[in-house]
Amino acid sequence: MFHQSNKALSAQTSNSLLTLAVAPARVIRGNNILNQAVDAISRLGNRPLVVGGDRTLDIAQSYMQQLLESEEFDFMQTSYSPDCSESSLEVLRNKAQTHEADVIIGVGGGKALDTAKLIAHQLQIPVVTIPTSAATCAAWTALSNVYSDEGAFLYDVALDKCPELLILDYDLIQTAPQNTLVAGIGDAIAKWYEASVSSGHSEQTLIIAAVQQARVLRDILLQKSLGALQSPGSETWREVVDATVLLAGVIGGIGGAQCRTVAAHAVHNGLTHVCGRGSIHGEKVAYGILVQLRLEEMLQGSQLAAAARQQLLKFYAEIGLPQKLDDLGLGNITLKQLQKAAEFALQPNSDIHRLPFKVALEQLMAAMISTTAPIETNRISNDVTSGMNQSKKFSGSKSKKKA
Ligand SMILES: [Zn+2]
Repeated sequence: MFHQSNKALSAQTSNSLLTLAVAPARVIRGNNILNQAVDAISRLGNRPLVVGGDRTLDIAQSYMQQLLESEEFDFMQTSYSPDCSESSLEVLRNKAQTHEADVIIGVGGGKALDTAKLIAHQLQIPVVTIPTSAATCAAWTALSNVYSDEGAFLYDVALDKCPELLILDYDLIQTAPQNTLVAGIGDAIAKWYEASVSSGHSEQTLIIAAVQQARVLRDILLQKSLGALQSPGSETWREVVDATVLLAGVIGGIGGAQCRTVAAHAVHNGLTHVCGRGSIHGEKVAYGILVQLRLEEMLQGSQLAAAARQQLLKFYAEIGLPQKLDDLGLGNITLKQLQKAAEFALQPNSDIHRLPFKVALEQLMAAMISTTAPIETNRISNDVTSGMNQSKKFSGSKSKKKA
């Protein structure tokens, strides 16, 4: 099954050179708009299978009351529990077929939406995504991550297209715990740190555009996140929700498969093998950005990476993103577990190999435990001194366009 999936994946990846999956066909957003979406959904189908998490389905119920009671539809609701895993997908495909579903509606966080998108893709029917938090851009993208029943990341699947309809209801998003938006900020800001490394030198029009959008997204988040978190429901809060749910998706859509993740997501993937569901996706990714910068700092001597890490540490402290393993609930991780996470992150097909240098297991483990290390000022002052000594040559500095 695993090999089959990989084969299907590589076929889809080569197709993605021909097909662009940039955006959902339609996005509806606003306050309390879920109940007004009857028409838009009924154009796609009348026998929806609603896929969500146990908790999110309960919460969404009151926001969808009119929708659920509408005579237009014959609903069936089901949970994706235990995870977006092969066993869940099989059960849900069977339910969809028994119900003769003609449209899938995903309601929930990233995993619920990934599950809904993948079932719709496999059954070749339309999908509607209704995010209940701003924790990821899964409502937008043509990509699903598949996990084990225990929550360990296995592989991702490129889908033919983005969802037919995305409904962003700010009132519903506001019911989610605050830490989901914080995690969404972590996942979204990673776009810049990863895309600038994997695709920063691309000559391709759309990829250049995607990388620049990632920089804009980073700046919006650095400027507005704190204000948004201090006043949920405000204009600034809605702008930050748009940034994490929509703009982050735009970047994945325009950049496509070539504008890929690098070490931050690879570290996330490795961590899911030791902590499963202990923290949410964007929190692990945010920590992974610091690991990636630490690698660039340690192995390339990049002072810009060191400065970017210090800037992010300050930002993380302000908004509550994890700075180190302890903040992810992994303060007591054993050396063996750390090694297991690092080994997974370094698997041959891992995106960590998009870094412009080789990373050894010991180096990755060292970076993972030193994300809060102070900048090595000795080294910098040495560099500066030697730079001054060779001031005639200094114009050709090795600076990267990071910070
Ligand atoms: Zn992510």
